[in-house]
Amino acid sequence: MPPIENDTGRAELKTRIQQLIDSNPVLVFSKSYCPFCVKVKDLFKELNVICNAVELDLMADGSNLQDMLMEMTGQKTVPNVFINKTHIGGCDKTLQAHRDGLLQQLLGGENETYDYDLIVIGGGSGGLACSKEAALLGKKVMVLDYVVPTPLGTTWGLGGTCVNVGCIPKKLMHQTAVLGTAMQDARKFGWEFSEAVKHNWETMKTAVNNYIGSLNWGYRVALRDKNVNYVNAYAEFIEPHKIKATNRRGKEVFHTAARFVLATGERPRYLGIPGDKEYCITSDDLFSLPHCPGKTLVIGASYVALECGGFLAGLGLDVTVMVRSILLRGFDQDMANRAGEHMEEHGVKFLRKFVPVKVEELEKGTPGRLKVTAKSTDSDEIFEGEFNTVLIAVGRDACTGKIGLDKAGVHVNAKNGKIPVNDEEQTNVPHIYAIGDILEGKWELTPVAIQAGKLLARRLYKGGTLKCDYVNVPTTVFTPLEYGCCGLSEEKALELYGQDNIEIYHSLFWPLEFTVPNRDNNKCYSKIICNKLDSERVVGFHYLGPNAGEVTQGYGAAMKCGITKEQLDNTVGIHPTCAEIFTTMEVTKSSGGDISQAGC
Ligand code: FAD
Ligand code: NAP
Repeated sequence: MPPIENDTGRAELKTRIQQLIDSNPVLVFSKSYCPFCVKVKDLFKELNVICNAVELDLMADGSNLQDMLMEMTGQKTVPNVFINKTHIGGCDKTLQAHRDGLLQQLLGGENETYDYDLIVIGGGSGGLACSKEAALLGKKVMVLDYVVPTPLGTTWGLGGTCVNVGCIPKKLMHQTAVLGTAMQDARKFGWEFSEAVKHNWETMKTAVNNYIGSLNWGYRVALRDKNVNYVNAYAEFIEPHKIKATNRRGKEVFHTAARFVLATGERPRYLGIPGDKEYCITSDDLFSLPHCPGKTLVIGASYVALECGGFLAGLGLDVTVMVRSILLRGFDQDMANRAGEHMEEHGVKFLRKFVPVKVEELEKGTPGRLKVTAKSTDSDEIFEGEFNTVLIAVGRDACTGKIGLDKAGVHVNAKNGKIPVNDEEQTNVPHIYAIGDILEGKWELTPVAIQAGKLLARRLYKGGTLKCDYVNVPTTVFTPLEYGCCGLSEEKALELYGQDNIEIYHSLFWPLEFTVPNRDNNKCYSKIICNKLDSERVVGFHYLGPNAGEVTQGYGAAMKCGITKEQLDNTVGIHPTCAEIFTTMEVTKSSGGDISQAGC
């Protein structure tokens, strides 16, 4: 159709467009083949919002409408988006408005003002990082953190799991055990000390808890300095934009916000057997236990179980680990078993293929005496044993069941309580985000929660585009012989690439510092898994030895940069270290060659 030249025709066209704008809550002037238009229409579909699209390329006078739109809005390109009569703009502007929450406000016809730009529920690793970053970017932010006491009444301060009942006390107690081993080694290096060496639990516990107290204080100060309003209260949604905050005295206060970030973390799971909540402890109680736990049964065989069992044994305690199936599910099983063997060789007992049935109290005390009954998972055998302490470490449940997510309309995976999010940590409710341990299918690690929280705030309030990268996340299990890894396990690599397409290089090694005390000869182990189809790029990194976290961190960075076997070979090692082993690995697993280390 030719361009409209006369004024009447142009006025009619303008009225027609205005009527379309006025009568459609969401209107997109679009072209059916345009990928940007598709993106915008998909966004509204995702948001469950009816969007009326006027496909200009399918209309006889489409180009006339486009010209008139240019006159009316200053924008000729499509998509050209209007929400509740407000002109938004094109694809980028619409997506940005979505990120900023403006879209949601316009969609709701909201001109409402909220108490806060952002309310973060949970003051742990993720929540603190996100709230501080948002406040730094000039937003009005509240963070609520509340610790529900354990069945035994243990509670703690601000900072979440990592600081109070996770990484920090765990690593410090692991370090206590490492020092014990170092003291034994010290005599071989010529240190003479005659008095019997013994460990005092209370001294360690007090020192560790004092340090934690200083961190709790530091977090409060940091929040105050950054103008984040910290409230020590339990939060639950009562409406999509409104929460109820209940403090420890039961006082209820209501707050509203344009956006929310859920960062409520997880708490230890109980077994649901007689005596578990009455007599057993979890990692939430262990690190502040007022007395030495004594002879301990650890139930479970993952991170928490092996780390805690490991350091308790390192303090000289009698430790048994009850394993239902395998060690460290999800990790490379070759490595997991080597870490377990080392524990076994150093006195930790493993009761394999058993699950507990009941726990009874034989005697009260600090510690008391407990009787544990367990049954075999593959026979009729029953185990009965006496312990001073039973530590349950059978996994953790996401704290999502009691925070009113139904009132906000947030979807939760009913099976595990985890929250599904898109790659921008956004839940199905556009103004509600989730980070950290409660996310479905993501790593449960402090640095991951922090990274996700920080980047989310930058995307929401600074136009940032970086998303949290959940691939090739390095991690370390602080078992007595530490295990660090990054990328794929051998099992996963085989499944993804097939036996023929991967090459595994491996080596045993004997750290120099172990040689003089003559311990753990050729027990440390290194392994890399390479993708033959991609220049032998390293897709799996595994290290079992001292200082695994320190070693793995650097190689994790190298893997992010896509390091290949050849590049590792061309890297000059630092001698004498454990980490250098990765620069000299020659024996492939498929060759069956000798991997023991003979000299330096
Ligand atoms: P959290 O840190 O758990 O914080 C959530 C906070 O929200 C808590 O304070 C909770 O009380 C609060 N909260 C919950 N519900 C509400 C509510 N409704 N209202 C107000 N507040 C609420 N990771 C590592 O990277 N390295 C390690 O070495 C390591 N060791 C660990 C050792 C142990 C024993 C455990 C248990 C975990 C360990 N982790 C480790 C994991 C790490 O602690 C978690 O991944 C991390 O703390 C998750 O952070 P988050 O912000 O998701 O939750
Ligand atoms: P987890 O990884 O979920 O492991 C649970 C363990 O308990 C498994 O060994 C499981 O055995 C066992 N189990 C479950 N139910 C049982 C039952 N009824 N009876 C006996 N055993 C049972 O849990 P987690 O160790 O608590 O760790 C939680 C998360 O915290 C981890 O995913 C990790 O990311 C994080 N974390 C990190 C670190 C670190 O970075 N160093 C340290 C600690 C924790 P099956 O294998 O048979 O199922």
